[in-house]
This record gives sequence, C-alpha cells and structure tokens, in this order.
Amino acid sequence: MGPPLGISTKRGAGEDRTGLSGRHVVNQTDLKDSYDYIVVGGGTAGLTIADRLSESCKYDVLVIEHGDFYDAANPGSARGTRQYSIRSLPQPGLNNRTTTSSMGFCVGGSSAVNGMAVMRGTKTDYNIWAELGNEGSTWDWEGMLPYFKRRFILFPRTRYSPRTSTLRMTSTQLGVKMKTPTSTLPFPVETIRESVRAPTFFSFPLLFTNQLLSEIHYEALKSVPGVEFPQDGHAGSQGVFWYPVSVDPETRQRSYSRTGHWDGLNRNNYDLLTASRVNQILFEGDVVTGVKFVPEEEEKRPRGIGPADHLEAAGITLQVDLPGVGANFQDHPIGPSISFQCVGGGQGLVAFLDLPIAAPDEFEDIAARYESLDLADYVAPDTAETVLAGYRAQQEIYAREMRGRGLSFMNYIIGGGAGGSPINLHITSRGTIRLNETDPQGDPVIDYRALSNPTDVDLMAAYLGFCGASSPRAI
Ligand SMILES: Cc1cc2nc3c(=O)[nH]c(=O)nc-3n(C[C@H](O)[C@H](O)[C@H](O)COP(=O)(O)OP(=O)(O)OC[C@H]3O[C@@H](n4cnc5c(N)ncnc54)[C@H](O)[C@@H]3O)c2cc1C
Repeated sequence: MGPPLGISTKRGAGEDRTGLSGRHVVNQTDLKDSYDYIVVGGGTAGLTIADRLSESCKYDVLVIEHGDFYDAANPGSARGTRQYSIRSLPQPGLNNRTTTSSMGFCVGGSSAVNGMAVMRGTKTDYNIWAELGNEGSTWDWEGMLPYFKRRFILFPRTRYSPRTSTLRMTSTQLGVKMKTPTSTLPFPVETIRESVRAPTFFSFPLLFTNQLLSEIHYEALKSVPGVEFPQDGHAGSQGVFWYPVSVDPETRQRSYSRTGHWDGLNRNNYDLLTASRVNQILFEGDVVTGVKFVPEEEEKRPRGIGPADHLEAAGITLQVDLPGVGANFQDHPIGPSISFQCVGGGQGLVAFLDLPIAAPDEFEDIAARYESLDLADYVAPDTAETVLAGYRAQQEIYAREMRGRGLSFMNYIIGGGAGGSPINLHITSRGTIRLNETDPQGDPVIDYRALSNPTDVDLMAAYLGFCGASSPRAI
C-alpha cells in the first residue's frame, strides 16, 4: 500500500479530453487529485458504468477495485485470487449448516467467476419491478426492452454454430441488428454480441454438438399440459428454450465486464486502481464528496448510511438512518436436484415454468398457505416496519402470481443427465447482510435465513416433483 489517500470527486466537470489514452494506475500516488466520478468496485456493474461515464471523454472517472487483474496463468499468486468466499452464519433451516458465499474479487467481479448463463426474465418479472416501484415507474417489460435490445447483435454462423434442431430465435424480441437476412428466420442462432462498441459476446455452448439427451428431454416436455416452447427465449414468455452463454465464439474464452468494458479501451480519463479496498465514504453535509481506501487512516468514528441501531453498535456515526440497507437479502444457498442414471448428456436447455404447470394439484394450496402467513413471524427480529411493509407488498404480488401464468418461481436447467436442478428465482425467505459489529472492517455477516419461510419448502417440493415426473426416463 502507498501512503494513505482520500480521493475526492470534483466540481465543474465536463471539458473535452477526447483523444487521450487510458491507464491502469498501479501506485496510489499516481492518482489524480480529484475525479468527476468515483466508482467503487470494478465488477460487472462498476466497469459497465465507468465505461459509459467515460466514453464521451468529458469526465474523469476512477474505478477502485479491491481485487486485482486475475492471473489465470499463475493462479497460486496473489493476483491469481478471483473470489471472495465468506462463510454464512449457521442456518437453522438447514440443520445449522453454514454455506459459503462466493463473489467475484478481481477486475470483472462476479462476471469473472459466474456460470455465464444468459437468460432474461419473463415479462411479469419486470412488470413486478414497476408495480413495486415509484408511481409511474417505467422499469416494466416495455420500458426495459429497448435497453435489452440495444445490447444484442446476431452474427453469421461460425464453425461453432449449434447443431441442435430445436434451437430457434426471432429478431423481434432480441431487437438485433441482423448480419443475417431476416428472411431466413427462424434460424439457428450463432453469435450474439452485446453492444456495437463494447464487444461482450454471447454464444451457444460447444456441447451443442452432443445434445441427444436434451433433445429427448425437449420432446418429452411436450407431453406436459400447458408447457410452452417459445421460439425465442428472450421474448419475455415462459417455457422451454435454449439459452446462450457469455463466451467469445472464436476464442471460446469467457466474455465478461473486463473484456467488454476495460480491455482495449484507450482513454486517460478512465483510471482503474486495483488491490485497494474502499472502506469509507466521505460526506460534506448530505453530499458524498469522496472515498477513503486505506485502513490505517480510518477516522475514529466514520459516518455511515444504514439502520441506526446497527451502525451505533458497530461504532459508526449515523449519517442517514436507512433500515433497508442490508435487508431483503435473497439468494439460493441450496440447490436441490433429482437425477436418474442415464447415458449421454447435453447443455443449454432451460425450462421456466409457472407454479400451476409445475404443481397443478397443489398450487392453490401453496398460494393460500403463503398469503395467510403473518410475515412479521418469519423475518429477522429487528426488521423495521418500513421494511416489513415492503415484504408484505411482495407477498401480495407473489401470492397472486403463484396462481398466475407469468412468473416462474424456479427454473430448471436441463442437461448432463435425466432429472433436473430447480433453481430458486423467487424465494420467500428474507435474509440480511450486516457489518460485523466487533470488526466493522472485517467480512460482512451473511445470514441467508434459508427456508425461514416455509413456503420455500413447498415451492422446492413442487418443482422437484415436476422434475422427477417430467424426466424422459420417468415418462
Ligand atoms: C458463482 C456465481 C455464479 C453465477 N452464475 C451466473 C450465471 O450463470 N448467469 C448470470 O446471469 N448471473 C450469474 N451470477 C450472478 C452475477 O454474476 C452477479 O449477479 C453479477 O455479476 C453481480 O454484479 P455486481 O456488479 O453487482 O457485483 P460484482 O460483479 O460482484 O462486483 C463487485 C466488485 O466490487 C469489488 N468490491 C467489493 N467491495 C469493495 C470495496 N470495499 N472496495 C473496492 N472494491 C470492492 C469486488 O471485488 C467486485 O469486483 C453468478 C454469481 C456467482 C457468484
């Protein structure tokens, strides 16, 4: 670490610096005195935002990333680390087991370590965002679609084009600028590139050359009443479809926020400082004016935004009392699966199914049980009333959607064998991420509160039952 530093945002930004070239700042002493924008974390969102902010060259942008450039050739080195692994609190719902939470810790963040599956939600997923949002929110399907469309371009077939016979996509929902004549649609999709300028690639897995079992599964699912088979899995409907992965089709390497939003950019108004952890946000009144990232220089009592009691217990002076910070944590700490012995494999097929399809005889009971719960009995004991009100609004919507035809509570990835692994998309338990009150600079305290709402068990049982019953072997 270099000498302690506090970096501030500056006022009066905007002069044109077009044409200057970019840099990775290795020493903290080489940083500029101030920046127009400071982005904390060079992960998926951070690098994307910094790229967008710096592209006009009018603003000085700094990204501060805790990790480093991941060195795949030397994974034993410090730069070979690319993942945080933080143990959760023991989970009473899982017989007091703990689980490890993984997150990206390098330039590229979690997009450098994730499973690379590229799937959009259904229309209902986004319409619920708007329904829960401020009045007049445009974060619904129609509002989001133009932005989704901006990301995609389809390219002509490559030698890696998928061979499967049931893969189809249309240009209507992808919003693609076609390099292939639209008259050939529906056609096997080759490469999807994210945005013209920043090349993040989506393509289909090589294993598409060996899809026999997935093809059989695809056919088997046709015998299940109500299951749809949309031509285009990105069109906002549920059903069974093939999905791409974020892999460069030529190099077969991961395509992610680092390759798309940092590598090869030539702007010296875009600085990236690695191996530096931001540990304080600086305020002037209620305005954030900068960050600090050297632990030795901590103020005795730093100021923070979050639940007042919790910050007080951690020795942090309250800047804004915001009880929702660290609440509403949702993840999938467990992944149930069901499998049968089989020969063959496959990859790239997914089923998004609503509850009435997955559990036609049980969905009504599950929904009725769920909506009858008083959520105050199932959330963390210190949950604020304002946060509880939000959970109740979600409960009302989920209960409605459990009876509806637009929302998948779990999807399941079909591949590798007969059976399936349902993955939670909408869980009903609500966890927390808090500071360690005795060591606020240490790892956060992660509490999934897994299965604390019994509805999650109902949902898992229902979708697992569907997997078993709809597997090709069982049929
Ligand atoms: C194992 C795994 C598999 C996944 N699989 C898929 C998948 O197949 N498909 C899919 O769509 N999604 C998947 N996801 C989810 C998806 O990758 C993440 O939701 C997304 O990348 C999160 O982006 P983010 O910008 O919010 O955070 P991140 O990309 O995690 O970025 C956060 C960055 O901030 C840095 N940072 C944190 N604290 C500090 C600090 N104090 N100072 C400086 N830097 C800091 C971190 O090092 C990190 O680089 C997966 C995630 C994981 C972990």
